This record gives sequence, C-alpha cells and structure tokens, in this order.
Amino acid sequence: IEQAAFQNDKLAMLGKIAAAIAHEIRNPLTSIRGFIQLLNPYLKEIGKQEYGRIILSEIDRANDIIYEFLNSSKPFVPMKQKVSIRMLLKDTIMLSESEAVMKGCELYQEIYDDDLTVAVDVKQVKQVLLNIVKNAMDAIQEVLNERKGLIVISASRENGYALITIRDNGKGMERATLNRLFDPFFTTKEAGTGLGLSVSYRIISNHGGTIHVESQIGEGTAFMIYLPFVE
Ligand code: ADP
Repeated sequence: IEQAAFQNDKLAMLGKIAAAIAHEIRNPLTSIRGFIQLLNPYLKEIGKQEYGRIILSEIDRANDIIYEFLNSSKPFVPMKQKVSIRMLLKDTIMLSESEAVMKGCELYQEIYDDDLTVAVDVKQVKQVLLNIVKNAMDAIQEVLNERKGLIVISASRENGYALITIRDNGKGMERATLNRLFDPFFTTKEAGTGLGLSVSYRIISNHGGTIHVESQIGEGTAFMIYLPFVE
C-alpha cells in the first residue's frame, strides 16, 4: 500500500510539474504567434509569406501537443453516469458531421440493440469516439481519389459488453503501425501528436473496457471498443 501511495504522490507531482511547464511554454508561444502575425506584411514584401505560415502552423502544433499532454497527465478518475449508447453515438456523429462533409466522408450509424446502456464518464468516452472518427477521416483523405469515404459506427451486445465498432474504408495500416498504435507520441502524420490513441486506450481501460483493432492495408480499419454495460 505504501508503495502505491508513493506512486500516486509521484504521479500527482509529475502532473503538477507538467502543468507548470506547459503554462510557462504556452505564454512565450502566444507572444511569438502574435509577433509573427505582425511581421506578415513585411514577409509578404520580400516574398517569404510561406515562412510565416510554417511558423504559425508549427506553433499551433506545439500548442496541440502541450494541450494533449496536459490532458493525458491529468488524473484519470472517470465521473461515471448512466448513458445510452444511442446518445453517445448521436452526439459523436453530430460533432463530426461538418468535418466529415468537408473531408468528403459519409458517416453512418447502425444500432443493433436499443437498450444498450453504459455507466461512463461521458466527456472522456466522447473524446475517445471523436479521436477514432477523426483518425478514420484522416485515413480516408489519403485514398479519396480512389473511392468514396465511408465511416460506419455500430453498436451491439457482445459477451456482457457493449461493443462500439468504428469502421472506415481508408488507407489501412501496416503491421509496423499496428504494433505501435497505442504508444504515446507514435504518429505517422506530419502534424500528428501521437497522443490520441494512447489517451483513448487509457480512458477505456479505466472504465474496465478494452480496445481492439483490425486493419487491412489499402482496405480499411475497424476499431472495436468494449465497455461493460449496465442492465
Ligand atoms: P495522431 O492522430 O496524432 O497521429 P493517434 O494516436 O490518434 O495520433 O494515431 C496514431 C497513428 O495511428 C496515426 O498516426 C496513424 O498512423 C494510425 N492510425 C490511427 N487510426 C487509423 C485509421 N483509422 N486508419 C489508418 N491509420 C490509423
């Protein structure tokens, strides 16, 4: 027990240090951002606008990493409430729809069991679903000239678990990617943080659930989220 308490203290301490550092890094980033924008007319004059754009997007990326890192180092105690799977999926689709339209993807939902209810931290689980849908859209982007993008979110009951499956017909993954998928900071994207899935994994296991992935290179990917359901 003492060892566990010590570990918790250490984690809490790490979280505090991370928050303090993040704060101290964000402030200078914000002023750099402001000054670069002020310099924009001069960059234009000398035909180097592109440099300004790159600096801004790299600052934004650094900010994203800080934001996600802060989120992932916070203590992860879920504030559970009873919620229907139907509601979770409806909100996820609603929140992703405009981005999907913009990115040329169609989103569908299929619910095979209307009584599926889970006790979860709604904010955290929605974050997981949105992360996975967003990844699906990114994977589809890369094959859009070959086919129309489709994302199907379905829910069913499986061995005492509510199973949410998010399937895309995007680019799929190689074995090497599949093996490292849930590692913090693992990304294959130019502007990725590599934190989405590691955080998602942690959230779902803190709920007593698991995430599985099946993927076929060039065909698509399915993420399966198992959550214990309540009667
Ligand atoms: P990020 O999206 O910032 O890269 P993630 O942890 O969310 O971080 O994802 C890690 C990597 O997993 C991605 O860079 C991508 O290579 C791969 N990936 C995740 N979801 C999919 C998907 N649906 N199809 C193909 N690759 C995926």
